Amino acid sequence: MTEVFKGSFTQQEPIPDEGIAAAVAVMRSGRLHRYNLVGDEAGETALLEREFADYTGAKYALAVASGGYALATALRAVGVAPGDRVLTNAFTLAPVPGAVASVGAVPVFVGVTEELTIDLDDLEANADQADVLMLSHMRGHLCDMERLMEICDAAGITVIEDCAHTMGAAWKGRPSGRWGTVGCYSTQTYKHINSGEGGFLVTDDDEIAARATILSGSYMLYGRNGTVPPEEVFDRVKYETPNVSGRMDHLRAAILRPQLARLDAQCAAWNARYGVVEAGLRGTPGLTVVERPEQETYVGSSIQFLLLDWEHSAIAEVLSRCLRRGVELKWFGGAEPVGFTSRYDSWRYAPSEPMPKSDRILRSIVDMRLPLTFSLEDCALIARIIRGEVGAVWQAARG
Ligand SMILES: *Cc1c(COP(=O)(O)O)cnc(C)c1O
Repeated sequence: MTEVFKGSFTQQEPIPDEGIAAAVAVMRSGRLHRYNLVGDEAGETALLEREFADYTGAKYALAVASGGYALATALRAVGVAPGDRVLTNAFTLAPVPGAVASVGAVPVFVGVTEELTIDLDDLEANADQADVLMLSHMRGHLCDMERLMEICDAAGITVIEDCAHTMGAAWKGRPSGRWGTVGCYSTQTYKHINSGEGGFLVTDDDEIAARATILSGSYMLYGRNGTVPPEEVFDRVKYETPNVSGRMDHLRAAILRPQLARLDAQCAAWNARYGVVEAGLRGTPGLTVVERPEQETYVGSSIQFLLLDWEHSAIAEVLSRCLRRGVELKWFGGAEPVGFTSRYDSWRYAPSEPMPKSDRILRSIVDMRLPLTFSLEDCALIARIIRGEVGAVWQAARG
């Protein structure tokens, strides 16, 4: 009998009961705005900022309206101006080049390797092109961060990390988001903690933190934030920095705090699922597993594999056969983007030259979400289905 998977690839876990209770308390109070505080109460948003700064080991954490907002705010706070060029990944999600475009800057795309990380040789070759790198740890894959920082430090490049898929991940034990000058995170529903929409920016830099706080729309109430740079730093920047409103509110913060407290356990649960799928796929003819370096502590909230040098039609056939059996795969290589865009040539507002080495990889990437609502049994079944269908199409192509 043909096995079929019945689960949903977009179904997340419920919000923890404590989060629901805290959110209800915020709603009962009527005080949802982060600066609507009584007396010297800290409020959920500031408490969350302190807890996130502790979690990442950063001096400052700012809670904001979305991950994309955190990225654009980071660019503004490090001084990117209209017309500037910003290095970024050729393989990432649309909000990354979108953040660059939102400040009037121009993305300069850097290639992708078979490990699905930024191509450091390509980065080195383009290091004279810009003063800022917006590095996306796309799909949770971390590059050799020591070499990346060497290249960027030598060229005087400021690094902003997009950690939308790496909250909880690390390279050589140092958290992602803590290698560059600024780390940005998303708390959108499909990321590692879920408030519908939301995000964070972390940094150790007093002036960047002060500018980001003013940018986020703190009016002159920034003293009530969770982590606050010295007053003299605000004195330098507060009249020069525009308010580009994008605050988080207490309701979202209330939902996030208990999720942050259990994030490490959640990461372990993702990795257990990832391990089962990876083991089930390993050794499938024609399929390349993306190997994870031992220096990388990753969070397996999604998994990728490559169908390198396959015909387009054969990859499309694998996807439709898997879908018929309930397994929803995404193909970053599709001719037309469906439901998302993740390739440099889909962002036609940004000029780009063809990148043949990256194109070969991009064409081959197949991606699957691993929500925590899947059991380990589900994961084993999903791997059997993919293995069977990839094998069948591969055999047929070989006649
Ligand atoms: C989701 C995502 C973002 C942006 O996060 P939002 O909170 O949705 O704005 C940025 N980068 C990557 C790689 C993402 O997947």
